[in-house]
Amino acid sequence: MNYKKFSTVAIAAGLFATGYSFAQDAEIATWSGFRKGAASFTFDDGAPSQVTDAAPVFDKYGYKGTFNLVYNWNPNWSGFQGMADNGHEIASHSNSHGNNMSGEEASSKKNIEGKITQKYGIVTVAYPNCNVPNESAVLQNYIVGRICNGSWQGMSDAMSKDGPSNWAKTPAIMTGSEGQLKSTNDFTGQMQNVVKSNGWVAFLTHGFQGKTNGNATYSPTDLGAIEGALKWAKDNDKDIWVAPMGSVAMYIKERKASKIEPQDGGAANTMTFELKHSIADNISKYDYPLSIKVKTDWSKVEVTQGDAKLESKVDGGYVYFDAVPNAGKIVVKNADAAAPESSSSAEPPASSSSSEIAESSSSEGPIALHQPAFDGRHIAAYVDASGYITVQNAQGLNITVFNSLGNVVRTTKGIGCEQKVFSGAKGMYVVKIGNKAWSLNIK
Ligand SMILES: [Zn+2]
Repeated sequence: MNYKKFSTVAIAAGLFATGYSFAQDAEIATWSGFRKGAASFTFDDGAPSQVTDAAPVFDKYGYKGTFNLVYNWNPNWSGFQGMADNGHEIASHSNSHGNNMSGEEASSKKNIEGKITQKYGIVTVAYPNCNVPNESAVLQNYIVGRICNGSWQGMSDAMSKDGPSNWAKTPAIMTGSEGQLKSTNDFTGQMQNVVKSNGWVAFLTHGFQGKTNGNATYSPTDLGAIEGALKWAKDNDKDIWVAPMGSVAMYIKERKASKIEPQDGGAANTMTFELKHSIADNISKYDYPLSIKVKTDWSKVEVTQGDAKLESKVDGGYVYFDAVPNAGKIVVKNADAAAPESSSSAEPPASSSSSEIAESSSSEGPIALHQPAFDGRHIAAYVDASGYITVQNAQGLNITVFNSLGNVVRTTKGIGCEQKVFSGAKGMYVVKIGNKAWSLNIK
């Protein structure tokens, strides 16, 4: 098929179009990556096995869970901090695990934030014993309050694309011996349903059969069933978005409140957009990236937002990228027209980039791998299920990705609370954020 000839005709037609015709073709995805449904795995009671057994399974597939800790039960803080450093969400499950949270909505958030650092602190909560506490105290401190099965409260177990009707009553389906989800098929059936309905489902797990569960004795789940579910999700990654509760909640709230609008200009080889919302609370900054597609006739594009170069992909007449609300103008450029020589200069010479690594090594000692702290903030870096090197909380910082030869394969700027910064061939990479670096393996 003569694709090239076809797109030349299409570009010629595009020259007659105005900026507005492009604009009408910009769309915010229902779910990250234009997937069809979303699923969140949540874990209660801070079981030791969640650190030693569950986290490695999630990391193996590149997925992240939500772990609800009981402050007074003194969980493995350093183990859970290590998971936060790797992109998992740590959340509250109260101080004392009393009914109706015993008024501990605000104090448990503060206490757990004293032990765990992560982006925006503790922003979601799961209620002990499934009892809904003071809803306004919940919503003043958290973006999500999680109940147990929705059907136990006359609601449905899975949610629509807009999340729960009340964010203080976000449902999650109980798994394990006392729950309705036991096998891999039980989990995948739920995920298949939300792929069909474009909805969101959350799961609620405690400890695991045959593992060390501490206080998390209720309704142990077969970890192998969860691993099977994650394997299915990875095989169907284009359809199902698996992400922590806080991330999905931010995405929904931002998507419902955001507009993508064209800017004047209409330069022949540039499209400019603003992506904005006006959500404001004291809990989160709501800068989770939203997935966008823009109709284009160009075969090769470069997308930037502010100082950041965004990962993008052209497919079927659209350019796809993730942009951050309220983070500056989005510029989509025709890369063929703007920089015809760019393809030959994609990689700088090895000598210059390896000297950059050597420099930072000699001035500050060996590159510190897996160091979360930077200027008092928390940064996480990991490879996600789609093979993207992903960073959290690097807003405004310089980001450089090196391949195993020490060549620079990406430079960009941190934007938003989470960012896909690079996808490439399998192998080891070093991602440098500010003066810290992480060694990551794209498998
Ligand atoms: Zn509990």
